[in-house]
Amino acid sequence: MSDPKFRVAICGGGVGGLTLAVALSRCQDIAIDVYEAAQSFCEIGAGVGVWPRAFRVLRKFGPDFEQQLLQRCGYEYTEEYVPAVRSRKSDQAVGIELFDLMTKGKLMRFHRADFHGVLLSYLPPSCTTHNKKRLISYTQLLEDCPGKSPITLTFKDGSIATCDVLIGADGIKSAVRPCMMRELAEVVNPDERQSVLSCMNPIWSGVTAYRTLISSEKLRARCPDHRVLREFTQYMGKDAYFLAYPISLGQYVNFAGFTLERDLVDSAYKADTEIPRPSFKGKTNDEWVSELTAQQFVEPFKDLEEDAQHVLECVDKGTLWAVHTVKTLPSTNFGRVAIMGDAAHAMAPFQGSGAGQSIEDAYLLMTVLGHKSTTLETVPRALAIYDKLRRPFSSEVAQRSMRSGQLCAFQEEVPLHELGDTITKNWEWAWLTELDDALEEAVRLVEDSSIDVN
Ligand SMILES: Cc1cc2nc3c(=O)[nH]c(=O)nc-3n(C[C@H](O)[C@H](O)[C@H](O)COP(=O)(O)OP(=O)(O)OC[C@H]3O[C@@H](n4cnc5c(N)ncnc54)[C@H](O)[C@@H]3O)c2cc1C
Repeated sequence: MSDPKFRVAICGGGVGGLTLAVALSRCQDIAIDVYEAAQSFCEIGAGVGVWPRAFRVLRKFGPDFEQQLLQRCGYEYTEEYVPAVRSRKSDQAVGIELFDLMTKGKLMRFHRADFHGVLLSYLPPSCTTHNKKRLISYTQLLEDCPGKSPITLTFKDGSIATCDVLIGADGIKSAVRPCMMRELAEVVNPDERQSVLSCMNPIWSGVTAYRTLISSEKLRARCPDHRVLREFTQYMGKDAYFLAYPISLGQYVNFAGFTLERDLVDSAYKADTEIPRPSFKGKTNDEWVSELTAQQFVEPFKDLEEDAQHVLECVDKGTLWAVHTVKTLPSTNFGRVAIMGDAAHAMAPFQGSGAGQSIEDAYLLMTVLGHKSTTLETVPRALAIYDKLRRPFSSEVAQRSMRSGQLCAFQEEVPLHELGDTITKNWEWAWLTELDDALEEAVRLVEDSSIDVN
């Protein structure tokens, strides 16, 4: 690249960071470096679903890109209404069907590694990737902002790099977020300082997730026509439920189960609480993830209906996750730094939308940074526009997502016959709305600098 208008460092090569790298690499005048803490770009062995709203954003990368994705999930994209999730009342010996969640367009389901692989394959050579680079902190000179002095990045291995714009896509345990909150705390009113600083660290949501992949062959050998081999099924029970659906062209069934301890929402996660969580005994509070034996894994779901038990019998082992979230932040940008994805709004997983929200963040960031009238001097304004248009939306999604879980775990007093409608209304933003309005507004705000965006 001959003379880039600025150099963007993306910290974190997860779904959000890689989507941003792919998007920005279409802007000929922006140089991109991706710094990833892990040795290689990889994803955990689990499924990820992308709702139509976010999938329509991915389609903007062109028909080839879309085709690659479609090949991985094995079915076509549609705009028709389709049954997406079959929900059962399963807290009884023989469960009953409660409702079918009808969505306009399908939930596109992937193996995470497949999805990641497609993004990686679209990174052009002009985008420089750096592995084993765990960011510790950054410094930007504010007096100089908007100015030319670079932002300095400091990595765990002692190395240092510079950039003009830093985007923290470094997930829930973000290193960029605490640095940014400290910067922000310096400039807010003294009585707001504590509240800003309280957003540095993630908080436990009271939710524990149980994740595994089940061999479809194994399940088929037991129950040749089991429903989860064909359809996305949700087995709902009081305070604990799970969902299961086929991925990787039917090779696996993705399993995600949840327990919700409502009284512990927003508490610090304690590995050794009185609540029996045998797998966490003796571990430190920092350890959010734990490997489970099959017996430990199925324990919270043992009272669910027989149909669910057939699925559980096929679990070999699994992983337990203490699901942490990020408080609603006072800002996701400061100077020439912004955060996106889980770093900005890690949310409960009950609407399967965290990755989708990071995809939307990425596309909006590309729209404001890549706009021809955005220069190094106007980057802070571009990032303020991103914050203005994305933060309220993703915060609302986070709230809706938590409510979905509470509804599915029968924690809200809703008559059974109204539950389907209530869950649908709370979720339909994911297929009935578009990012496009925000994109248009972003362009309008970038082009008309007389409009105040703060
Ligand atoms: C049980 C469960 C099920 C879910 N299911 C869905 C679903 O179906 N659909 C959906 O949309 N979402 C789902 N989500 C949420 C989704 O997984 C996340 O929202 C999404 O992965 C966030 O992407 P990200 O790129 O922001 O962060 P991450 O995917 O966490 O990526 C962050 C990257 O940054 C790197 N990194 C971290 N720290 C540093 C550092 N200091 N320096 C450099 N690199 C760093 C990490 O190694 C990682 O590669 C689910 C979540 C859970 C817990």
